Amino acid sequence: MAKGLQPVQGMSDLSGGELRLWQGMEATARRVFAAHGFSELRTPLLEDVSLFTRAVGETTSVVRKEMYDFEKGHLHLALRPEGTAGVIRHASTVGAQEAAGARWFYIGPMFRHERPQAGRRRQFHQAGVECLAPPSPRTDAEILSLQVDLLRAWGIEARARVNTRGAAGDHVAVAAGLKEALAPHRAALCADCQRRMDENVLRVLDCKNPACGEIVAGLPPVTTWMGDEAKAYFAETLRLLGVLGVEADVSPLLVRGLDYYEHTIWEITGATGAQDALAGGGRYRMDLGGEEWCGVGFAIGLERVAGLLAATGKADAVAVPPAKLAWLVGMGPAAEERLFRTMRAWRADGIPCRMGEGSLKKQMRQADKAGAAYAVLCGDAELAAGTLVVKDMASGEQRALPEAEARATLRSLLA
Ligand code: AMP
Repeated sequence: MAKGLQPVQGMSDLSGGELRLWQGMEATARRVFAAHGFSELRTPLLEDVSLFTRAVGETTSVVRKEMYDFEKGHLHLALRPEGTAGVIRHASTVGAQEAAGARWFYIGPMFRHERPQAGRRRQFHQAGVECLAPPSPRTDAEILSLQVDLLRAWGIEARARVNTRGAAGDHVAVAAGLKEALAPHRAALCADCQRRMDENVLRVLDCKNPACGEIVAGLPPVTTWMGDEAKAYFAETLRLLGVLGVEADVSPLLVRGLDYYEHTIWEITGATGAQDALAGGGRYRMDLGGEEWCGVGFAIGLERVAGLLAATGKADAVAVPPAKLAWLVGMGPAAEERLFRTMRAWRADGIPCRMGEGSLKKQMRQADKAGAAYAVLCGDAELAAGTLVVKDMASGEQRALPEAEARATLRSLLA
């Protein structure tokens, strides 16, 4: 047979059992978000490219290399590579007064033109939150604990690695300090990092090149160049995480890839030690055309969560169960017509049901293939008696019931 059309590389369809896992993950996320006072926000997948260059940062690899952008008419647009920028754009759209203190969550696809490899998709999905509150260790600790609690609700025990990016006023001193500390190693850094040293030295700390990693591991913690305010903020955040019982390890060289972070930042890897992060988050300050927005948020990669749940045998506990269905099987034109009418009435009553066509044998095969939980049979005898035969497809057990009783039984079993 000819091979059918495939989805674009790095993107995939979701269906069947895999989709049921995603539906279960999403339902759990919605429940946990609601318990923390978050409401959903759906922003467009396409935004003006300038939103991402401004919000995420022009020198980040997400914007520099990975964004799908194109020109159409007089617009230069980009498929969103992450969720925060769109949320902040929405805040700006509705205005500061309405957006102040907002707690929004989103669940949806993001797009990055990455080299396809295990764990790196070009269309991937994130569940994330943004809490538009000014800097406060309590809010930061609350949002990190929300993320840990959501992972736990999915059955994943995770530890966060946390660090501070310092207050906005520390960024210049941190960059200068890092540059000075890296200067003696400049020649040993990869070409990208040599450029990063001049453009945005923090990016050097994110480099995946092992030689750069070794140099970075020998650097002093970034707090070395921060003021007392940032250090006190971080200490208080760690204390409050302790109050909540959230386990977190300080990771003194964690900076995360995007430009807009300040104060608390974190990353979470699954307990299986997968090389890639499950989730990341942090506090940020964004300047969108003269308007400044502060908040704290996180994004969890849903492909990574689904993969971890499948690998650890926990997927079935999270997945929504398969839908149960009754299959109406008519023998003879009069019975079929009765069932055709019955089907419409039952559906209005919330009983999921379908009908096929053809011989009895064929209809039973169709019921079996669809995974129907019950078959409901009607022939001339049932027509005359006003009954229906309800057959449990798994056990084979069957009973003739008056139509009203059959309907009530199936409603309680399936609706
Ligand atoms: P980031 O926005 O880069 O902090 O990513 C947040 C989370 O999204 C990561 O921890 C990953 O779980 C997930 N993620 C980011 N990029 C990808 C990708 N290309 N494919 C799959 N998941 C991703």
